[in-house]
Amino acid sequence: MTGALYRLPLRPELAGQEPYGAPQLDVPVRLNTNENPYPPPAGVVAAIAAAVAAAAAGLNRYPDRECAQLRSALADYLHAESGARLGPEQVWPANGSNEVMQQLLQAFGGPGRTALSFAPTYSMYPEYARNTFTEWVTGRRAADFSLDLDQALPLIERVQPSVLLLASPNNPTGTALPPEQLRAVLDAAPGLVVVDEAYAEFRRAGVPSAVQLLADHPQLVVTRTMSKAFALAGGRLGYLAASAEVVDGLRIVRLPYHLSAVSQATALAALAHSGELQAALEALRTERDATVRWLREQGLQAPDSEANFVLFGTFADRHAVWQGLVERGVLVRETGPDGWLRVSIGTAGEMAAFRAALTDLLGSDLIAHDQIERKNFRELQDVPGHHRPGSNEEGR
Ligand code: PMP
Repeated sequence: MTGALYRLPLRPELAGQEPYGAPQLDVPVRLNTNENPYPPPAGVVAAIAAAVAAAAAGLNRYPDRECAQLRSALADYLHAESGARLGPEQVWPANGSNEVMQQLLQAFGGPGRTALSFAPTYSMYPEYARNTFTEWVTGRRAADFSLDLDQALPLIERVQPSVLLLASPNNPTGTALPPEQLRAVLDAAPGLVVVDEAYAEFRRAGVPSAVQLLADHPQLVVTRTMSKAFALAGGRLGYLAASAEVVDGLRIVRLPYHLSAVSQATALAALAHSGELQAALEALRTERDATVRWLREQGLQAPDSEANFVLFGTFADRHAVWQGLVERGVLVRETGPDGWLRVSIGTAGEMAAFRAALTDLLGSDLIAHDQIERKNFRELQDVPGHHRPGSNEEGR
């Protein structure tokens, strides 16, 4: 068959779906994908370049399939960062934590099984489920975006998920999952409990990481990434910490040589300079807390955040606010429940530009102050239940 008669055998559930991703617009201030705004310092750039040059000399060969050196270095990093000592057999890297989580669903989800999460949360989760033919169910978070155990535990009981995905801090709300809540979920969940700690390094001092619970909970999986605090989003390196048995499951489904020699060399060099790459964390936390305060002073709502972004609103027409900010050179993310926007924390200069643009907008005819809605958080949420991928209310 040729031309108009030929019909691509695209899976019907993929027809009409858009590829995932934030608009990549060329504006001066980009605060829409939760990156670290500070590029690697020159010394670290040189170290990464040297490591990649050394790897280049051996590129005729496939890389180490088991990523042994990198897994040891990641285990050492987690020890320093969270206090928990893991063996390299408990760590597994891939091309971003997105790939790690998709591998988790390939190995532990699948037809006849269910994955569960609580919205609003990261909107890639339903896509991993779709890609692995796993049934997808979402419950609701509480009015303040925390996990509501009175709703969550019965839903876990009813759904019996093979994989439960919980982001902490949660995207797009910035909400952390307290350890006592995680313990309650671990007691109730029949399958894997995945705590997505993509933003863990931004948490406040004294807030523990779920990594510390791994020793006592074989069904716990903690995913991490070098895309955020590490200033290595372009390197595509995510990883998880779990029992060696979980890692063995992923080793079955991973493609051979999934992590290139260039990626492994880049990540190893970055890990050797983690202090320099994360030098701005404290400044970013301070800027984040100042941003929350400033937004509230403007009469807006902004939940406390443990991450490097802040959700703010609510607006009767959030798209108009998003567009108005773009026209003023500032790109934020149109995500979260209806009425809300999310801003990533940038440099001090970028945040000043964000404040100036929003101030201008709030004073303009376009977004008169009386258009700011003062809805209670609860009104913005609906009932728990089955949830189709592609909903607009999740964190992207
Ligand atoms: N988890 C969360 C909660 C995220 O927000 C992101 C990135 N936006 C990821 C995972 C994936 O990050 P990466 O694949 O770059 O590691």
